[in-house]
Amino acid sequence: MSPQKIAIIGAGLGGAAAGALLQRAGFSVDVFEQADAFSRLGAGIHMGPNVMKIFRRLGIEDAVARLGSQPDFWLSRDGASGDYLSRIPLGDFARREYGAAYVTIHRGDLHELQIAALQPGTLHFDKRLTEIEDDGAGVDLTFADGTRHRADIVVGADGINSRIREALLGVEKPNYSGWVAHRALIPGATLEAAGITVEPCVKWWTEDRHMMAYYTTSTRDEYYFVTGVPHPAWEFDGNSVPSSREEMHAAFAGYHPVVQGLIDSADEISKWPLLNRSPLPLWSRGRMVLLGDACHPMKPHMAQGAAMAIEDGAMLARCLAETGLTDFAAGFQLYEANRRERASRVQAVSNANTWLRTQEDPAWVFGYDLYEHALSSDAAA
Ligand code: FAD
Repeated sequence: MSPQKIAIIGAGLGGAAAGALLQRAGFSVDVFEQADAFSRLGAGIHMGPNVMKIFRRLGIEDAVARLGSQPDFWLSRDGASGDYLSRIPLGDFARREYGAAYVTIHRGDLHELQIAALQPGTLHFDKRLTEIEDDGAGVDLTFADGTRHRADIVVGADGINSRIREALLGVEKPNYSGWVAHRALIPGATLEAAGITVEPCVKWWTEDRHMMAYYTTSTRDEYYFVTGVPHPAWEFDGNSVPSSREEMHAAFAGYHPVVQGLIDSADEISKWPLLNRSPLPLWSRGRMVLLGDACHPMKPHMAQGAAMAIEDGAMLARCLAETGLTDFAAGFQLYEANRRERASRVQAVSNANTWLRTQEDPAWVFGYDLYEHALSSDAAA
């Protein structure tokens, strides 16, 4: 009998983690990605101790910690006066209290490390899933290039516009949240030449908008900002459009001189719509299961969207290892029972954009160790 096979659609941060962890659990896994390659696109990302403990299992924790910046604090400051609103200890405190480092890193660098953790030959680029059919005994996948693949179960890690979510729940566009994000990477040397002193990880806030800024490398030669700014409708085609210093100066009029200096130092600024969905009524059906943004997309303000996708992948691997693939239905139920509450809570807090604005205790997020969590089969877990 041929070994049972798992197909993962999407090799983003969630799909890559799920693939590598399922492979380490002994499953035969192929990952299908629509892109023809991955490049180092301009964005940073936070990886909290909750994810670093999962990376430990993947053997990439040290490399991520070495490449990224490890801020001593998450600082929140009033956007206009610069007064500190909170100083959330990270650095040594995070390593001691939460069991791993808190890292901010370039998204492309992180992704490369995650992709390298997959078994060679199991990631297939240029495979855009177009058709999917679960006939009860297996799932047939058809890709845009006309090729096909049959698997025992399929994991939809294909992001906010997930084709697998569509197969489970029908075609429905995500909600535009009413906010956009501006993003830019700035060379450290540019900031130095302009005499701008920055902090390693700081969020500048006023009532309806903010700018989050941090280093993306351990050498601190690259600084990144990402904003949240109200904007009535996303009237553009595509995932992002170019923005400008002028537009950002208008959006951040009255903000602190450091914020003005960051805008002046940014050469290429892009603008992205912030999208989300309400919690889905189901996470799996038949032989298909969802994770990450395919399942619970959120506004990015807690810097935990990818973290939840990676935690999902780790929990799915753990649950399927527990039940075996023959009893995948029990595995899917166990997975949802042990993920839904946490992912939905993070989704709600992230959408509300309140996280760490005041001196709150982040231990429920950062201190969480997925492998210490006792599995509960209760749907309300
Ligand atoms: P994705 O990363 O979207 O990956 C989906 C993959 O599936 C893609 O590679 C795509 O090409 C592929 N795919 C899609 N359709 C198909 C198809 N039909 N066939 C084959 N392949 C397909 N999260 C954090 O944890 N920390 C942060 O600091 C952070 N900052 C953010 C800042 C911004 C501005 C935004 C917008 C998001 C941020 N997030 C952050 C959230 C994070 O980016 C997402 O939650 C995360 O990328 C979700 O991962 P995923 O693997 O579920 O989906």
